[in-house]
Amino acid sequence: MKTLLRQVDSIRCEHNADRVTEVRVEVGPLSGVEPMLLSSAFALLASEQTVAGARLVIDKVPLLAHCEACDKEFEVNGFVFRCPTCRGNVKTISGDEFHLLSVSLSEANAEFRDSLDPSSHNCSDTHETAS
Ligand SMILES: [Zn+2]
Repeated sequence: MKTLLRQVDSIRCEHNADRVTEVRVEVGPLSGVEPMLLSSAFALLASEQTVAGARLVIDKVPLLAHCEACDKEFEVNGFVFRCPTCRGNVKTISGDEFHLLSVSLSEANAEFRDSLDPSSHNCSDTHETAS
């Protein structure tokens, strides 16, 4: 989550924007990220940073698997990793994603900017290595 916010903030700095209005992420069921928890963690962490007021949009990625025997792709329901046709083993092809898809930025808004601590606009620490 902190890595995500750091990523968002470095994009904001790159574009010299004052604030982030929307953060869109892609989350798959195998990523271990619970969308509800992600939203509340975002609200909590974002309130203290330059992403304050940004909206978090979560795109849920379907859990897809492929059966080699049938050469079919299907959505996995209830985490049953079996081919619905031949009951054979399948290979997961999507569902473990957790990526930042896009960030919407807003240009200088004097009122908003003046109300922020000036140090929050300092971009010097955004180049640390993301883990
Ligand atoms: Zn099959």
